[in-house]
Amino acid sequence: MAMEGSGRRRRLGRTCYTIPMTKIEKTNDQWRHELTPEQYHVLREKGTEPPFTGEYDHVFEPGTYRCAACGTELFESEAKYDSGCGWPAFFAPASEDAVEEETDGTYGMRRTEVLCAACGGHLGHVFPDGPHPTGQRYCINSAALKLDEK
Ligand code: FE
Repeated sequence: MAMEGSGRRRRLGRTCYTIPMTKIEKTNDQWRHELTPEQYHVLREKGTEPPFTGEYDHVFEPGTYRCAACGTELFESEAKYDSGCGWPAFFAPASEDAVEEETDGTYGMRRTEVLCAACGGHLGHVFPDGPHPTGQRYCINSAALKLDEK
């Protein structure tokens, strides 16, 4: 994976730094060894679990949702809501730097893909039909998440 341009400019005090994203890079064989077939399909092959089947679709316990591949904190339970769409939905990521968003033109649709910023794993998509306060709906596969209950 190309590293160029993956840094993000951020203002700290009076100086502008380019902070390189920490990229976890593993071979497909390594990921295949570490992940379940379902996790691998979603995270590494941009798959989508069938709606209403995922482990966290209707879980609302307090805690932190981490990337199932690399453990990075992605979403907080406080931002989770029941969208009725069949997948876990959040109105915001845990932090601005936790996820990356990319335009996805597959399947004849124009969507915005959501990826783990640390390992590049596919998480799901974000749609502009979410609730207050952001209006965003991060529609995320359960297979891409691991809940750390509080
Ligand atoms: Fe990750």
